[in-house]
Amino acid sequence: MPISDRRAAPCRFCGRSPAPGEHRLPGPAGPVCADCVEAGLALVRDGRARPSLGGTPLLAAERGSDLACEFCGRRERRTFFGFRRPLARMIGGPGNAVICADCLDRAGDVLNRALRQR
Ligand SMILES: [Zn+2]
Ligand SMILES: [Zn+2]
Repeated sequence: MPISDRRAAPCRFCGRSPAPGEHRLPGPAGPVCADCVEAGLALVRDGRARPSLGGTPLLAAERGSDLACEFCGRRERRTFFGFRRPLARMIGGPGNAVICADCLDRAGDVLNRALRQR
């Protein structure tokens, strides 16, 4: 996809197009906006479904679900010693996008930094 198309692509979770100059986290299937990152961080913490600002439902993936995060491709965390740990994930949007708690943390950091640079 050309970069200009990618910049205008709708958010994977709320389906909204970006406002001019809005920062979003790019992903292999499309970007996630700051509002959905914020909703996602709250969702992976409390496990409760909520609507996105675009009106689409945001849901928590069930424990042990085999849906992989589309941003990093993981379903679980692996510790240094090879133990598997559950990885909270949010599902939502028109295309049932999936993002994990680790990518949400990373996205929050990236977007905060971008906001501070303005
Ligand atoms: Zn969004
Ligand atoms: Zn991830």
